[in-house]
Parts: sequence; structure tokens; C-alpha cells
Amino acid sequence: MNRYAEIIIDIAYNKLDRPFTYRVPERMQPQVQPGSLVLVPFGKSNTMRKGYIIALKEECSLPPDKVKEIAELPVTGSGYSEDENGAFAIALAAWMKDRYGSTMAAALRTVLTSQKPGKPVKTREIELKLSPEEARRQLEIYVQKHQVARERLLRELMTVPRQPYSLVLNKLHITASVIRAMAGAGVIEVREEESLRNPVSFGGEDPGGKELSAGQKAIVDGVLSDYDAGRSTVSLIHGITGSGKTEVYISIIRGICDRGKKAIMLIPEIALTYQTLMRFYRYFGERVSVMNSSLSESEKADQWERARRGEIDVIIGPRSALFTPFQDLGVIVIDEEHETSYKNEAMPKYHAREVAQQIAMMKNACVVLGSATPSLESYHRACSGEYRLYRLTERLTGGTLPQVEITDLREELRQGNRSILSLRLQALLTDRLAKGEQTILFLNRRGMAGFVSCRSCGTVIKCPHCEVSLSLHKNGRLVCHYCGYERPNVRACPACGSPYISALRAGTEQIEEHLKIRYPGASVLRLDADTTTRKGSYDRILSAFANREADILVGTQMIVKGHDFPGVTLVGILLADMSLYAGDYRASERTFQLLTQAAGRAGRGEVPGSVVIQTYQPENYAVQYAARQDYEGFFREEMNYRSLLLYPPAAHMLCVQLQSPDEDRALALSGQFRELFMRDDPDAFVIGPAQASLTRIRDQFRYVLYVKNENYDKLVRCKDRAEAFLAYLVRIGRDPQVQVQFDFDPVTPF
Ligand code: ADP
Ligand code: ZN
Ligand code: ZN
Repeated sequence: MNRYAEIIIDIAYNKLDRPFTYRVPERMQPQVQPGSLVLVPFGKSNTMRKGYIIALKEECSLPPDKVKEIAELPVTGSGYSEDENGAFAIALAAWMKDRYGSTMAAALRTVLTSQKPGKPVKTREIELKLSPEEARRQLEIYVQKHQVARERLLRELMTVPRQPYSLVLNKLHITASVIRAMAGAGVIEVREEESLRNPVSFGGEDPGGKELSAGQKAIVDGVLSDYDAGRSTVSLIHGITGSGKTEVYISIIRGICDRGKKAIMLIPEIALTYQTLMRFYRYFGERVSVMNSSLSESEKADQWERARRGEIDVIIGPRSALFTPFQDLGVIVIDEEHETSYKNEAMPKYHAREVAQQIAMMKNACVVLGSATPSLESYHRACSGEYRLYRLTERLTGGTLPQVEITDLREELRQGNRSILSLRLQALLTDRLAKGEQTILFLNRRGMAGFVSCRSCGTVIKCPHCEVSLSLHKNGRLVCHYCGYERPNVRACPACGSPYISALRAGTEQIEEHLKIRYPGASVLRLDADTTTRKGSYDRILSAFANREADILVGTQMIVKGHDFPGVTLVGILLADMSLYAGDYRASERTFQLLTQAAGRAGRGEVPGSVVIQTYQPENYAVQYAARQDYEGFFREEMNYRSLLLYPPAAHMLCVQLQSPDEDRALALSGQFRELFMRDDPDAFVIGPAQASLTRIRDQFRYVLYVKNENYDKLVRCKDRAEAFLAYLVRIGRDPQVQVQFDFDPVTPF
């Protein structure tokens, strides 16, 4: 019997991150499993704490009076636990701890939920009560009365007559009072469903209507035949926006479900729109479940419980949906796989793509990645044969790729135009306003870190050692975030002598103001972090624009995703440079992705679109390749740069991040780490210590140390050495009191 359990206490304290032995009371012995969440008395005061069982055993060498007893075994629902998957979850957590460096407690918390589920949730559903004929008449009435919300909901129900209540409320943004009113009038009925429905009877027009193109079919067949052959492959679909990737994902998932297996579909939160979710509902009905980051821990536990019990086949969600405890996982799909949101920025700093691969390998499932602008990592692996590469090169809804022009902002300045809009963009904008067509103006605010560039010749002040731009800090000094190089700010351009050299700063709000003055007749919507703080406002602004309620949409990179705007025939990218010199080695890649995706927003409808890219660096390769929509060209050139400087994916990079309220301690410890790494391997490629890009947050001083190596395992060894050294310092009573984190192949600067 399982008389003793090894338990990791769920506590954010490194020193206690080791298994503690507890006695399992006899009554619990039949139920406990590896992965079980339990409550145990802990410490001198016997405070009740949550803990995870990681192993069970018969014997214990400790004296019996030293061993405490498990106090409580909450009911099911800690994710993978309580079934044969518990061991899997612990193995996965252990792999994450090793590979990314974190405590076992944090890794377990990521993989298992720390809550038990609440009462089983009833799913509410909205059903149309009218016949098609009656519905058409009712729709006319709503249109006449300008009851926009009712009209919108009715239209949607006329295509899919039964829809989940939460989807209508949260994603279609129909208020509860409108739903009540329509129910009161007998147009719809709201029902609580406890039992689950068969997706086939879910209703709506036949979802299987779309015949796949030859290209799409080849991908679906390829992935499924790999799967049937028992190969746990990773496939990358490189397909422009609108080329039918989502349709391919759905077909693959259907194929997997036909084989009795389950699917995890990762979509960045920002792209989880009503339209996208509806497409999945139409195929999978109540057998699909949606996760989002606003779910509470216990709501998440509910979802996982449903998955564990086999009540759903497909889960859609962001990063954390990866850990949905399906027994028979068949496929993990990652859409927009290049998105930075797939990297977890808290410990363990894992990348969803890599964890997906690991899970797939352990469970013999397959992985499908898709993007219009694949990450360099994935494309590199596809080229080397590690991933299977598929391409989709045509838009299936017609619509041609837009015409892209670059305007040189240096030239504009020379001609005396100090406006944020180039003359060319002004001319096109005036033309679109006259024709009643829509325009998107896109400002990438990512680069607000304040790189310094010359407005006359475009020169950017860079670090002499690192090939990244220097950032202007508040104290007026220019700093390199990679090696710590520092110099005073410049007064004149070192290349051309022009005094017009400064940190670039501009915001969406200023642009909105500017447009209102300049084009008083035009209606402008703005979409950025400030206008979308209220829940649902993001979708609402985008829906309003899609409904042609405004002429111009001004926004940050948020506008790039998810929505289709057939009325847009002009996209202006106001400052392509702003993301180019964000002070990290991925800046060009991000710029290329943003420019390509933003350009893809134009000309989705009948009328061909135009794109204007404004820049101080028209010759920059990321700008050039984006203008030509040439992914391959960009990939080759960018890989050359990464290879030359040993940046990922040409090599791997470990970033050791140190934080302390005491600057000297952080600096001293990073120096010791450096010595340690060099002593182990005199050829180690160690850079720093340097100030982090955010030098101080909440009175914590931040330092970074980089190690590069082609061999990932060597970096893991560095991490292990650092961890062991820290533990040693604590043991001899010289705790440096510095918080240390590890980030492998960092995606965003610390
Ligand atoms: P992506 O995910 O690559 O952006 P989607 O799958 O959303 O592409 O497809 C873009 C548009 O093309 C959608 O409106 C979709 O309904 C349509 N579409 C996709 N596949 C087909 C097909 N085989 N036949 C007709 N239309 C298709
Ligand atoms: Zn200059
Ligand atoms: Zn440097």
C-alpha cells in the first residue's frame, strides 16, 4: 500500500523546493496518486499548505515521530491528477524544471491547477424559436427600428440557430438585457443544459460544405498519414493570411477526433474573436471548450475536469491550454506560432512550441504550427528537415495582395514636411476619404524604449560591440542592454553632423488629434492599450470598424490580428523604424512580421489595396523584404546575421536575470556567475553582466548575464551550476538575497 508520500509544497520559496515525506492515512490510501493535490500541515506552526504528491512509497527511513500526516485530500480536479496521467504531469513538470530552470513547485503549478473545480457548470444556450420565414420578417422589423444589437444577434442565429450564451455575451457583445427582451418577445429561448449535446445535431447549415483546395487537402492528408504511421511529427504551415490555414486546422482536428483522439488548439488571446470561435463551434458544438486568461483558477479547474472526464474533444485557448489533461491527445495545433505571447514570461519561462513538442512526444501526438510569418526558429527547423514544411500561397476568397510603397521620411523633412503623414500617404488618404473607403494607420509603439536616430540621414546610434541600438535612459546616457556599454548622449549626428537627432517618440493619441484637425470630416477610431482597458472594448472597436462606422482606424500592433476588414483599401505604417531598434536581437524579425501582417490588412475585399510604409531607413532589409512580401529573402538575410553573432536559432542563448534591492549584491553575484561559467569552460561565450533593459522596477535593480552556445545542454549545465552555487551560499549562511531567474532563448528583453 501507499503508506508514505513525497510532497512538493506549493510555496514560492526556493529553499523549500524539495520533497517532504508525509504519512498517508489509511482511508486515503486507495485514492492518492502521483499528481494529487493535498493539504498538509507544514512548518513549526503546522500551517495548512497545498502540496503536490510526486511519488508514493511503502517504506520511510525517517523516525516515525518526525513524519506528519496528510490532512486532507480534496476532491478530484487538479488537472492531470487522479488518473494514470498524474505520472505524466510530474514527468512533464520535471522536464520543464530541468530545461527552463524554476522550482519544482512552480513547474507543478503550471502543469496542474492548484484549485479544485467548483460545482459542475450548467452550460446556457440561446436558441432561435422562429421559422426561417418568420426570422426574415423579424429581421426586417429590427432593421427598420434600427435595433442594431437585436439585428446582429438574429443574423448570427439565422446561420447557426443554437449558440452558447457566453459566446454571445462575451464575444458578440450582446447585453443580457437585449437577450432577455428577445426571449420575452418569443424570438429566442435561453436554456440551461446539464447534459451534453451531440455535435452533429448542433444545427446550422452543413459545416462540412467547404471543399478543401488541393493544397489544403495535401496538408491534411500529410499530417494525418504521419499520425496514422505513428510518427510524432511537427508540421509547419507557412501560409499567407486568408490562405485557408484555419480551415486546414479544423479538418485535421476532425480527422483526429474521428480516430477517437483529442485536440488542443492554441490561438493568441487577441485573435480569439467571435468569428473564429464560431467556426469551431459549427464543427464541434458543445464538444469544444474555450479557455482564456480571464478565467479564475477554479473555472480553469472546471474546464480541465471536463477534459479529464472526456466530455470535450477540443480545447481552444492561449498558452496555458497546453496543459489540458486529455487522456488521448492526438494533436496540438498552434496558430500564429510566431507570436511572442507563446513564451511564458514568468518562471518557468517556457515556450509553448517546445512544450507542445515535448507533450506530443510523450503522448505520441502530432504538432501543427501555422503562420504567415513563421518564427525564425520554426522555419530554420523546417529547412533542416526537423519539421515538415507545407505552403499555402493563395488567398481563397479572391482579393489580391496589396501594392506596397516605401516613403522616405528623411526626404519629407528635406521638403519641409514635418507632419507624421508623408505627402504620399496624405494624398492616398484624401483619395480614400473621398471614395468612402477605409484606412488603417498603424503605429508600432513597441519601440518606445527610446532609441536615438538622426532625422536627416537615418543613422541610429548603436553599440560598437553588439549590433543593437543604444537606448536613451532618463539620466541622459545611451546604454547597450546586451553588454552594458555606455556613452553620453550625442548632440549631433556622428554620420552627417545634423542637429536633428533625438529619441523617437510619438503616440496614437497625438496621431488621432492630428487627424481630427487635418480631416475634420472623417470619423476616427483609436485602438491601443488605453482605449481597450475595459472588458470587451477591443472587440467592440474592431466590430464598429468592420461595420464601417468609421473611416480611419488608428492603432498599435493590436489591430493586426483576428479581424477581416473588406472595406480597407489603404494601410499606412507610420514609423516602421520604431520596432527596428528596440534593443534586442529579434527586433528585425518582429519588424518584418509586423509590417507583413499589417500590409496583409489591405485589400481583403474586391478593391485592391495600397500600403505605405513610412521610414527613416528605406534601405533596411527588414523594411525592404516586408515591402516585397518576401519571407524567404528575409529569412536568409536574418539567419546570416544570427549565425554571425551566434544568436538563436543559430545558437542557443541563456539569459541569467538578477534582481535585488541592493545593486552591489546583484552585480557581485552576476560577476561570480560569470567566473563560474568561465572556469567550467574557458571558451564559454559569456556576455555581461550588464544592466537590464528595465534597469530598475519597484526599487529592484536588475542585471543580466548572457551565455551563448550551440549546444542547449551546455547552457542547462551553466544554469545547474548557478543554481548549485546559490544553494551552497545559502547553506553556508551567505544568502546573497538576489532573485535569480533563467530565460532560455529569450523572446523579449528583460
Ligand atoms: P487563414 O487562417 O490562413 O487566415 P482561413 O482558413 O481563415 O485562412 O480562410 C480564409 C477565408 O477563405 C475564409 O473566409 C474561409 O472561409 C475561406 N476558405 C478557406 N478554405 C476554403 C476553401 N477550401 N474553399 C473556399 N473558401 C475557403
Ligand atoms: Zn545624420
Ligand atoms: Zn553592447
